[in-house]
Amino acid sequence: MILNLQDKFNKELPADPNRNNINRQVTESCYSYVTPTNTSSPVLLHTSTEMLNEIGLSVEDAKGSSFLNVFTGNEILPDTNPYAMCYGGHQFGNWAGQLGDGRAINLCEIEHNNKNWALQLKGAGRTPYSRSADGLAVLRSSIREYLCSEAMYHLGVPTTRALSLALTGNEVLRDVMYNGNPAYEKGAIVCRSAESFLRFGSFQIFAARQDKKTLKILVDYTIKNHFSHLGEPSKDTYINFFKEVAQRSLEMVIHWQRIGFVHGVMNTDNLSILGLTIDYGPYGWLEGYDHGWTPNTTDRGQKRYRYGSQPEMVHWNLFQLANALYPIIEDAAPLESILKTFATQFRSKYLTMMKSKLGLFEENEGDSKLVHDLESILQETETDMTIFFRSLSGVTKDDKEKGLNKISNAFYEASDVQNTLKSKWEKWFMEYHNRLKQESFTDTQRQTKMNAFNPKYVLRNYMAQLVIDEADKGNYELIEEIYQLLKKPYEEQVEKEKWFAKRPEWARHKVGCSMLSCSS
Ligand code: AMP
Ligand code: MG
Repeated sequence: MILNLQDKFNKELPADPNRNNINRQVTESCYSYVTPTNTSSPVLLHTSTEMLNEIGLSVEDAKGSSFLNVFTGNEILPDTNPYAMCYGGHQFGNWAGQLGDGRAINLCEIEHNNKNWALQLKGAGRTPYSRSADGLAVLRSSIREYLCSEAMYHLGVPTTRALSLALTGNEVLRDVMYNGNPAYEKGAIVCRSAESFLRFGSFQIFAARQDKKTLKILVDYTIKNHFSHLGEPSKDTYINFFKEVAQRSLEMVIHWQRIGFVHGVMNTDNLSILGLTIDYGPYGWLEGYDHGWTPNTTDRGQKRYRYGSQPEMVHWNLFQLANALYPIIEDAAPLESILKTFATQFRSKYLTMMKSKLGLFEENEGDSKLVHDLESILQETETDMTIFFRSLSGVTKDDKEKGLNKISNAFYEASDVQNTLKSKWEKWFMEYHNRLKQESFTDTQRQTKMNAFNPKYVLRNYMAQLVIDEADKGNYELIEEIYQLLKKPYEEQVEKEKWFAKRPEWARHKVGCSMLSCSS
């Protein structure tokens, strides 16, 4: 196993002088050196071929014992110094102080094909940031992160990636629904990868501690290594840095809205400074199109992170990042202006995105209303988001009467589309048909564009749960099946049509399908 190792993060940034895994407050340092905990009998369950290639490894390399040992924390690559990062965060709107990598351990950085990758084990044991928790991860949450992050990549969404999924051989105690029913589960480790794992909270922690010196070192490092096109550090560069983070975060959340992804825990420690989707916890995919839906039962009361609020929550988080960067900029006006622009840009980009979902590419005054009317009626009728938009591409300019038939498979209850709702739907389809006629693309051209934009296959909540249930029984074949399916989310894959289906009734209220907690 030959890897082109880099060592930028821990060469250029200040380290915690103490080297142990004991829980503590770490100041004036961006990370602490730690040793992954040994695992008793690790078993590799899956590797991502694409990610192996990205870092210069082959499928054969991944079969060696060295790969297994390194990516389950039992062997440290020569000349590397694993570390856990220090960060803080606002959790559900409240400042929570120091959080940090409580169970993530960065192994090393790798350069390959002019790209840099940080590799990180999730679930490899306690670090100084573990607080009262065990530093471990269970199989169910590891499968969810592993499959979903790769699926998001293939959907074209900026995301952290996953390299490998392994069982540790150890048991982990978890109270899944936080209701006093702890049970042992299989422990697992995902090795995930990204250009960087820095989060908004990585910057906030130094601002909160009024440690302007370390804040500036970290911002300069981030610009030099990840935003070098912005130029040498200066007040203007810092402002442009914030502007680009805002831009990237906006792009990311528009993608989430496009595909119906609900992150579930958009705390500032879970927002990547590179605009990547990060920290796959109690996320979920919209089945019935519903702006008020959140998969996270921990957030059921407030629903702070529900689907329809995600863009606003990104904005809120950016506001916190602006506060954190303020000490090195000392000028609020440009930051405020960027935050204001975010809101207006969001409205226009969201409309363009929704229009593309509908196959509308020309300008028309009434488009905003057409989209809005659709959003309302989609919520009045329990309608499967993925099936609805995918099927919509089958509507042609001249089948005025049949539009509704083409998408009827997306309704959860056929009776929902009777009477009043039926006439509402017919009215909407009438307007849609009239609007389609103004498009210069042919039906076939429009269909191709729509099908490259509206996925056919996503990691439905019940699908992830089926994979987990099988894996718990020791059958890992479904991991590979779903992994392969989600590599081509926009292709028809006729032989895999069974996954283009509404959520089955058994999954409606099942834990793991519609109800997830932060327990992982
Ligand atoms: P999350 O909301 O899952 O992103 O986690 C919030 C914080 O809790 C982060 O600092 C995590 O590293 C930490 N954390 C979550 N689960 C564990 C665990 N099992 N052991 C140690 N730290 C954890
Ligand atoms: Mg997190």
